[in-house]
Amino acid sequence: MNPLHDPICVLLETPFSRWNEDDKKDFLSCEKPMPLLNVNKTTKIKDKVYNRNFKLSWYLDFEWLCGSCYLNKLFCMPCLIIGVKSSVWNNSGFNDFGNVTRALNKHEGSSEHIRCALGLSRLRQNLNTIEDALQENSRLCIKHFNENVQLNRRFMQLPIRAVLFLGKRELAFRDHYEDASSVNRGNFKELLEAFISISPVDIQEHYKKIAPFFAANSKTIQIEIIDCISQYIDEYVENEIKECMFFSIQVDDSTDIVQKSQCSIIIRYVNSGGKLVERFLGFYDVSASRTAEALFNLISNCLEKFNYKSKLIGQCFDGASVMTEELNGLQAKN
Ligand SMILES: [Zn+2]
Repeated sequence: MNPLHDPICVLLETPFSRWNEDDKKDFLSCEKPMPLLNVNKTTKIKDKVYNRNFKLSWYLDFEWLCGSCYLNKLFCMPCLIIGVKSSVWNNSGFNDFGNVTRALNKHEGSSEHIRCALGLSRLRQNLNTIEDALQENSRLCIKHFNENVQLNRRFMQLPIRAVLFLGKRELAFRDHYEDASSVNRGNFKELLEAFISISPVDIQEHYKKIAPFFAANSKTIQIEIIDCISQYIDEYVENEIKECMFFSIQVDDSTDIVQKSQCSIIIRYVNSGGKLVERFLGFYDVSASRTAEALFNLISNCLEKFNYKSKLIGQCFDGASVMTEELNGLQAKN
């Protein structure tokens, strides 16, 4: 037998105090080693020969008794684990099987053994208590985490519903400028706050807790949501234009509230469903230059990915930004 497979040999090699906590717990939760030892002892008393055989019942009669199969000796488990004083029961092992009963009783009554037995009992109790506490703590952590996930999911339905409502109604999320003192703080904020105010109390309380970290109505989050929607619409429109046979464009002039000259580009085509649609591609700043050349470059860049050279069949221009240059010049370039 390999001594590494004999727990008593392992304990003799490395004292229990130097084991890691997991190994200690595993060892104490296992049954003590109770191998059948090889005893071949004959005693002669007054011409009579007595054979001494190993009895497994010794392990049951003495709760602390354990054995090493490799060493073929008996040991005391509490003295092996707790004991500091070296004795035959925790060091060399007991194999005087002719006097085993007397020796077992003597060791059980020794003060060092009683101290070790009490120490081992306390150690087992502490390990169980710590394990129970860890398990309970872990269970509560998981429960708390799952409850938070549920609350987060329920809360997130509110901004999602606000986004869907504004999207379906084609309403703007917010104005170009947001003024904190303004009565109307933007459709998204107003709608979200209305949803929160009529949501269940636990959701309202949860939002108060997470608001410092996740303010659903913050400017940054609004802009991110708008960017996501814008990106999705752009991708949708681009796919439609790529699928269509021909398209025409309308370029219009528009001046914003700070008198910045900009032009809008709108594209018309028949989509794959056979429906004539008109899609807005965006506003483009033309305040730097409103020459036919600059406008041509702008429109050309915008439509390049749609293969406009073979698909563009109609152009419509309106507004001052174009009229300031020669209209015919731009149309001719396109
Ligand atoms: Zn002992």
